[in-house]
Amino acid sequence: MNYWYSKIKIKPGALKKRWEKRAARAKTPQRTIPIRKVSNRQELKRRIVRNLGLLDAAKNGRDCRIKKAKHCLGVGSIAYHIIPQMRGDATRFVRENVVWACVACNRGEQMNRSLYRQYHVDIFGKERVENLESIARGEAHFSIAALQTILENTRAEVISRGGVQA
Ligand SMILES: [Zn+2]
Repeated sequence: MNYWYSKIKIKPGALKKRWEKRAARAKTPQRTIPIRKVSNRQELKRRIVRNLGLLDAAKNGRDCRIKKAKHCLGVGSIAYHIIPQMRGDATRFVRENVVWACVACNRGEQMNRSLYRQYHVDIFGKERVENLESIARGEAHFSIAALQTILENTRAEVISRGGVQA
């Protein structure tokens, strides 16, 4: 045995010091992993919408809120827009517009918008739907910084409710 490292001399006490440092570090509360700041517009939107869906689930339960599709899964897994996202940013992040639903109902809504509009009125009330429709007639533009702020706020809220955030 004559490995090079066998010749390294460690100062007496150095190992002990190292172990003490490690033990002290282990005792301090774990630092949170910094979340890399998202700057991609599409990704920011996707995450905000996801969080809004999770917040609705936290408030109203994880069941699908729509339950109208023939093959509704019963339990939701996605954020669902009452006013479709394609209508633009004015209603995209409005809380009343995003509910928790299943993929089957989301697909159904995409296939038959007018039928589902009536469902929305039945489920959420005419006032809520009409209010969202009037907001959708306006225009909105969000800067990257504004989106980042919305994402941070929604994420904090999801975490405070004990959910898994996007
Ligand atoms: Zn459903």
